[in-house]
Amino acid sequence: MTDAPLLGNPPRAADRRARAGDGVLRDPLTGQQVLIAGHRQDRPQTRTGPCPFCPGGTEAPDPYDVKAFPNRWPALPGASEVVLYTPRHTGSLARLSQQEVRKVVDLWAERTAELGRRADTGYVLVFENRGGEAGASVDHPHGQIFAFPEPPDVPMRELRSGTCALCAESVADDLVVLGTRGWRAWVPRAAGWPYELRLAPRAHVPDLPSLSSESRDEMAWTLGEALRRLDRVVGGTMPSMMWIHQRPTRGHWPQAHLHVHVTGLWHAPGRRRHVAAGEHGSGVMVNPVVPAVAAGRLREA
Ligand SMILES: [Zn+2]
Ligand SMILES: [Zn+2]
Ligand SMILES: [Zn+2]
Repeated sequence: MTDAPLLGNPPRAADRRARAGDGVLRDPLTGQQVLIAGHRQDRPQTRTGPCPFCPGGTEAPDPYDVKAFPNRWPALPGASEVVLYTPRHTGSLARLSQQEVRKVVDLWAERTAELGRRADTGYVLVFENRGGEAGASVDHPHGQIFAFPEPPDVPMRELRSGTCALCAESVADDLVVLGTRGWRAWVPRAAGWPYELRLAPRAHVPDLPSLSSESRDEMAWTLGEALRRLDRVVGGTMPSMMWIHQRPTRGHWPQAHLHVHVTGLWHAPGRRRHVAAGEHGSGVMVNPVVPAVAAGRLREA
C-alpha cells in the first residue's frame, strides 16, 4: 500500500511533501492522521555543549526577549517553528512574569497571523511539551508552532457541529479553578487526564490575533497561574502538554472560539499516567481522578 489517501485536495505543496514521504497521511483502516517524519531520526538525541537557544547560541545569535525561528528538525517540513519564551535558560511559562508571558502571547498571535497568510497554510497549531518527560529535547523554555495545510482532525472534531460548544457550556462552579474578568480556567467534566485544564476567554474570540490588548494580559496571567497550580499540586514541575485551538486560517468558521488545552502528565508526584491498551483500543480514556476533586486541589494549590 503506497497510495494512502492524502489530507486535502491536490495539487498542494503538502501533498508533494507527503508523496516524498513526509507530510500528513491518513491510515486507510483506522482513519487516523499520521505525520511521517523520518528525517527527524537524524535529530540529536542528547545534547552536549552550550545551549543553542541561549542568546549567543547557534539558534539565537543575537539578544532577544522572545523569538520565533524555523525548526531545524521540523516534524512538518517548511511549516514548523520554535518559539523561545525568555533569554533565561531555566524556568518555564509558570515562572515568567505576566509581562514576559504577554510578550509570548503577542509573538504567538503574530506568528499565527503571518503563517496563516501563506497560501499553503490552513491551520496554525501553537503547542508546548514542558519538561523532558513530555518530550522536550532542550531544557531552555520554548514551545513550537505547526502550520498545517488543512485543519487536522482534533480541532476539526470540535468545529464540526457548527456551533460553539464553549459558549453553550455552562461550567459548574466546582470545576472552575481560576478566573479573571475576561478569562477562566477549569477542569472539564469529562476530563480524560487526572490534571487536565481548559482555558478560554469568556467572550467568543476566534483566534490569538483577534485578542484585545487587555485580553492578552489576562490570558498571560491565567496561563501562568494555571501552570503554577499544576506545579504546586505535585510539589515541583509537572511535566505537561499544552496546545492552543483557534480558528482555521482559511474559510468561514463562525463557531471557532479560541481556547487552550493543558494536560499534566502525572497523576501523583513523580507518577506518570500512561494511556493503556484498553484506552487505545477503545478510544475511551479512564481517568483515576474525579474532575471536581482535581479542580478542588488546583484551586487550593
Ligand atoms: Zn538556554
Ligand atoms: Zn464561543
Ligand atoms: Zn480544543
